[in-house]
Amino acid sequence: MSNMTAAVLREHGDRNKIQLEQIPIPEPGPGEVRLRVRACALNWLDVGVRRGPKFGTIPLPLIGGGDIAGTIDALGPGVAGWETGDEVLVYPLVTCGTCEFCRRGEPTTCPDHQIIGEHIDGGLAEYTVVPAENLLPKPANLSFTEAAAIPVVFMTAWHMLVRVGKLQAGERALILGAGGGVASAGIQIAHHAGAHVFTTTSTPEKMTLARELGADEVFNYREEDWVASVLEVTNGRGTDLVQDNVGAVTWPAALKTLARNGRLVTCGSHSGAEVEIGIGQIYHRQLSILGSNGGTYQDLASALQLIGEGHLHPVVDTVLPLEEIRDGHHLMEEHGHFGKVVIEIQ
Ligand SMILES: [Zn+2]
Repeated sequence: MSNMTAAVLREHGDRNKIQLEQIPIPEPGPGEVRLRVRACALNWLDVGVRRGPKFGTIPLPLIGGGDIAGTIDALGPGVAGWETGDEVLVYPLVTCGTCEFCRRGEPTTCPDHQIIGEHIDGGLAEYTVVPAENLLPKPANLSFTEAAAIPVVFMTAWHMLVRVGKLQAGERALILGAGGGVASAGIQIAHHAGAHVFTTTSTPEKMTLARELGADEVFNYREEDWVASVLEVTNGRGTDLVQDNVGAVTWPAALKTLARNGRLVTCGSHSGAEVEIGIGQIYHRQLSILGSNGGTYQDLASALQLIGEGHLHPVVDTVLPLEEIRDGHHLMEEHGHFGKVVIEIQ
């Protein structure tokens, strides 16, 4: 047993660029563990990595997939506190640990940070190697598939709402695009924080699912002027915080919904990254536009604790075998899903 099946990207482009190959099983180095991957969820990042980087470069060939759950298969030299057979999930950021940002406990702004599945081989393979310090124990009440649906979206939404957005109980939070993974996590986190939660989505079925996650008001952006609806249900006051990873399509409208001293927190721009907005509203209503980039290990651990206690739930839409990885990318690009697309690896 020296080879494994892996989904390998050798050049950027459409989803047919992802090829299943037989390649050598990786060996863990000092401080690393090898995992027998059991499940790996897809993210928008996987689509972006496949298409090609907006900035910088991505080392190819690459095995994608940063949302990993599996069983420890081998320990590298110097690893303590973990044993083979432990069931784990993986924090997907690898940071330098020595820069001023890392020393301040802000790994998301480490200029040298790397993301598993973008800069380092990820979990779309039978085996992968990760730093032991990136491991978290899998809650016993979750399957590997559910566990793989957690890291990226829950750490991202936690970082946006709690750490950057400083969401308070009683505030009004608008979470855009309920069907997306970050939004389905954000709705739950905001609800658990005691906020009054608004969200937007595109079909009656998704509206029902969003309410089940804890959204108080759900607007169908295909059928109504959701800005007017938000202002109407808040008696013209608006929202205190908007969580946005949609980008150019939603920013101008999202800003209009913000109350005085409101905050727009952004973590992505998959609908487009260039936008024209009126500056006057920013100072007149004292709005804040806040960037959020991924999340910290502690953000993920905080969300995971609430998941283990049953307060928050990973949302899995579709489960596919590794052989159907291209179909998974297609689903991501079609926006037909609600929650995560997870690849199971048998
Ligand atoms: Zn650093």
